[in-house]
Amino acid sequence: MANRAYNFNAGPAALPLEVLQKAQQEFVEFDNSGMSLMEMSHRGAIYEKVHYEAEKLLKELLGVPDGYKVLFVQGGASTQFAMIPMNLLRPGTKAAYVATGSWATKAIQEAKLFGETVVAASSEANAYKHIPAIGELNVPADAAYVHLTSNETIEGTQWSEYPDTGSIPLIGDLSSDILCRPINVSQFGMIYAGAQKNLGPSGVTIVIIREDLIAKPSLTVPTMLRYDTHAKADSLYNTPPTFAIYMAGEVLKWVKANGGAAGMEARNREKADLLYGTIDDSQGYYRGFAERGSRSLMNVTFRLATEELEKLFVKESEAQGFVGLKGHRSVGGLRASIYNAVPVESVRALEDFMRDFQQRNG
Ligand code: PMP
Repeated sequence: MANRAYNFNAGPAALPLEVLQKAQQEFVEFDNSGMSLMEMSHRGAIYEKVHYEAEKLLKELLGVPDGYKVLFVQGGASTQFAMIPMNLLRPGTKAAYVATGSWATKAIQEAKLFGETVVAASSEANAYKHIPAIGELNVPADAAYVHLTSNETIEGTQWSEYPDTGSIPLIGDLSSDILCRPINVSQFGMIYAGAQKNLGPSGVTIVIIREDLIAKPSLTVPTMLRYDTHAKADSLYNTPPTFAIYMAGEVLKWVKANGGAAGMEARNREKADLLYGTIDDSQGYYRGFAERGSRSLMNVTFRLATEELEKLFVKESEAQGFVGLKGHRSVGGLRASIYNAVPVESVRALEDFMRDFQQRNG
């Protein structure tokens, strides 16, 4: 396919071409059923197979141990910002958050609606250019959980290892880096992620939660916002986003065929090294936003000397087939999101463009 853009969108983002083509083939008629998957009941055998297969693949690829539930819910990761404290923050306990950037801050703001929050560590004073050292975390003994944002999509920072929070459950927002590398799920009480970066299209959110955390639900929480509702019904309590779950399943098959989480990490490191290498070789022409030790494998954020040059960079890049390189309005500058499905060829093309741009505008 000749006219695929070099897609560096932050989310929704690039999907594997093979997955799009397979979905296209199956779009009008699915599995000899005389109809599209989108036209059939979520209670029928054909959809159920798709549903349970996606769940099984997610468990396999992430290495989810026994004792955890994998859920498909709606409302995006933003709804999880509320569901977490609604379900887990009980009277007499506090919600501890690590303030690493824009998304962590949104999670904290939402938790404040439900109870007492504490900031266990923060990089705000450094404009969120780094992830606090694990040793800096100060978690009160009466914390109901500790929440961290594994990858700050806007600032372009990422945790390289996760803290051991002992008996206090660790909750991770992995929206922008799930399956970008192997993780040890048992370090977490709960993981959640909107699908629209590494797992598929928007419309479905993944929750992986330890069963003991849903054993005693808070009965004043609305039914649809309780984890136990979805856990008991295998995410079929109400109508799930069937097409988004089907697409996520196809993306997971692609991840598996490409080496699983370890294969993704190798691929992602190659791409990230190319871009950070270009930044570091530019003698200060390109300035990485994140500090080196906190650089994200998924969102490469950088600045140029002036906003005029940044605007020119975006304009020229668009003319050459690059999409999505303008940084988020809250931090400015430039951002290349290089999620799992972004091919290394796109990154090589961007590297060439960056070197050429510097030569012409240096
Ligand atoms: N957390 C992170 C780290 C994100 O990147 C995003 C979306 N960009 C969200 C939460 C919010 O996700 P949603 O739009 O699915 O609510």
